[in-house]
Amino acid sequence: MAVTRAQFLKSLGASAGNAALGVGLTAAAKVLGATVASNPAARASSKTPVEEPGPPFLESGPSEGNRIALTFDDGPTPGITELILDRLKERGLAASFFMIGQRAAAAPDLARRVHAEGHAVCNHSYTHSKLSELPDVQVESELARTQEALTEILNHRPIAFRPPYGSFRKNQAHLARKLDLSVVLWSVDSRDWAQPGEDKIADTILTQTKSGSIIICHELHRQTVDCLGRVLDQLLARQFQFVPVTSFLEDPTQNLPSGV
Ligand SMILES: [Zn+2]
Repeated sequence: MAVTRAQFLKSLGASAGNAALGVGLTAAAKVLGATVASNPAARASSKTPVEEPGPPFLESGPSEGNRIALTFDDGPTPGITELILDRLKERGLAASFFMIGQRAAAAPDLARRVHAEGHAVCNHSYTHSKLSELPDVQVESELARTQEALTEILNHRPIAFRPPYGSFRKNQAHLARKLDLSVVLWSVDSRDWAQPGEDKIADTILTQTKSGSIIICHELHRQTVDCLGRVLDQLLARQFQFVPVTSFLEDPTQNLPSGV
């Protein structure tokens, strides 16, 4: 059986449906990687006989300093992505965009604009399938097709991958590694996908963000755009420095769960 992030959080006593998910995750993230790797149930039910050791999935950056990574999933989306880019550009901020391969292929100029404006463009699969439920060959195809599409469009090869729904098994990690992709999750869920209203989205992000946070938003809905300006301004007022999430991967001082 696939062990999803939500199932693990549940087993850790944190509800994936709780608005305080990001806060719970900060503590849970410390043990999540180790727990996934050593969970006997996960290992026993795995179809892969040997689990390959490897780096844990990245959930946050260093808690020292004041860096945060704002990330946007599921684009590019004509009509929304441009507005997000404008808000970032007005303030000179860098973010990360986890693009769906087939959407980038359908809107290559928009994908190119994201890259040209200095943001990290990352892999978010080709069709946005729940990868933990797919066989290796299909997962590999989802990742590779997206790498090929983005590399051709941008003339730049992504180095980070986020599985749709955060659903990825530890014993699938080697499929990402084969393509030189690091697996990146998040520590603050804006829950903008549920469209709870722009005030609620802003409140969730502003309440939960701290140094090292990786914040997940989506480039899908107007509500995200409508609260983005004030969210950015308030985070800036708190002296946070916005960095591409890929800079956390290059940072040897990143917080990794111990014992993995
Ligand atoms: Zn997604």
